[in-house]
Amino acid sequence: MCGVVGIVGKGPVNQALYDGLTMLQHRGQDAAGIMTVDGQTLRLRKANGLVRDVFHTRHMHRLTGDIGIGHVRYPTAGSSSSAEAQPFYVNSPFGIAMAHNGNLTNAGELQQQLFEQARRHINTTSDSEILLNVFAHELYQQKCWSLTAEDVFATISRVHRQIKGGYAVVAMVIGQGLVAFRDPHGIRPLVLGERDSELGKEYIVASESVAIDGTGFRYVRDVEPGEALYITNDGQLFSRQCADNPKHVPCIFEYVYFARPDSFIDKISVYASRVNMGRKLGEKLKREYADLDIDVVIPIPETSCDIALEIASVLDKPYRQGFVKNRYIGRTFIMPGQTLRRKSVRRKLNAISAEFAGKNVLLVDDSIVRGTTSEQIIEMAREAGAKKVYFASAAPEIRFPNVYGIDMPSAKELIGHGREVDEINELIKADGLIYQDLSDLIAAVQQENPAIEQFETSVFNGEYITGDIDTDYLDRLDASRNDLAKSAAAGSEDANLELHNEADD
Ligand code: AMP
Repeated sequence: MCGVVGIVGKGPVNQALYDGLTMLQHRGQDAAGIMTVDGQTLRLRKANGLVRDVFHTRHMHRLTGDIGIGHVRYPTAGSSSSAEAQPFYVNSPFGIAMAHNGNLTNAGELQQQLFEQARRHINTTSDSEILLNVFAHELYQQKCWSLTAEDVFATISRVHRQIKGGYAVVAMVIGQGLVAFRDPHGIRPLVLGERDSELGKEYIVASESVAIDGTGFRYVRDVEPGEALYITNDGQLFSRQCADNPKHVPCIFEYVYFARPDSFIDKISVYASRVNMGRKLGEKLKREYADLDIDVVIPIPETSCDIALEIASVLDKPYRQGFVKNRYIGRTFIMPGQTLRRKSVRRKLNAISAEFAGKNVLLVDDSIVRGTTSEQIIEMAREAGAKKVYFASAAPEIRFPNVYGIDMPSAKELIGHGREVDEINELIKADGLIYQDLSDLIAAVQQENPAIEQFETSVFNGEYITGDIDTDYLDRLDASRNDLAKSAAAGSEDANLELHNEADD
């Protein structure tokens, strides 16, 4: 869960990169970074925190140059030490900086190969540093003195053959240009935009189209699965399909929860897909749960508001904003460890009693992950005077971990893992629990772009599209993702930091 942005401009790009990152802030609140290149000098600022807290005026002044990349991070692999904030850099060949959204599923193997074949050392636990080194190693093998589009495409073709997983990448090769590429399934999103300046065309590549809208660029197109772009320092754009067997299978969770509603991903409006999810779920409720005596439909803000409004309209019931969200605290799942997470739901949301007192309410959320939020919200609804509390989820039961870059807890911590709906209902203590069917979720998103035949839906059905995920892999993932492992990683942060040459404080 990260956001990336890269710009090749005709003037300073620091402000546009900053603005782009603020537009992508929802994709990661853990750390932020920008690297620019001014002549032959690389400029870097990265640290833990929100974009607005990481970059002060003095940092912005130092981020000079007409080409740059930026990153916001929520860690899916590795610890949350600021040593792992991106972009990452290697000095050979040319000097390369890279920012990555996604997760490599064969990172361990790649790290070993890098050492055995190239004596390359990886200093963090981040798979992005591994990806950068695979790219650098392959680029080095091209033995070129100045970088041509052919060199870039040959490199990316070889990178695609080695790395597995979900990835959307922006990279800068110093003195040459900007490279961007997307995994052969297009699991993680990446879009291209352009803007005219007096000196010629400027380009932007970003995780979501909001970053294009918000920076005065116009959307050109989505980067194709497996495709690579090379934009030279002087603004020439080259593109090529570099994967052997590209097949478009974008991550459905971007539409359910992750992306901003005003984004278009793969020509699908995130907002429209959420409205469709609401309609499908409303129709299911009408068809199969006609006996539920619902008085009012209440969303759990904010992602589910568009969904709940549509459910209310299908059911012909009032829609009310019964919960008020405190906008000034972070997302709940940022907190490490279950105890803190439990507390933070109440810090984040508060109920308006008048909307609950004496009523049968249908609460709507986009998804149920651990079940902590739903359980507490149901309790809050009862305390506010609700008679009955039904709960509807716009996503089906989340039963399996995500391995392609969406942060999900270990399988054991997912409330839907190995449980039937009745058992989940019992745990969250609702008077009725209704999940969207997977076929309906797929239809809701696909309706907006029927050309996409398949979506990445592994968290619901355990089918991992890259074909390399076995029980062994999932067991290892489980061990690294459970809360205990996360707190241990947090404890080793200080040691990590000492090794890290923190830039530009
Ligand atoms: P919980 O079931 O308590 O883990 O929280 C579910 C809530 O977290 C829902 O309201 C979702 O909006 C949100 N959510 C969705 N996906 C994720 C995710 N990958 N990590 C954390 N929270 C998520």
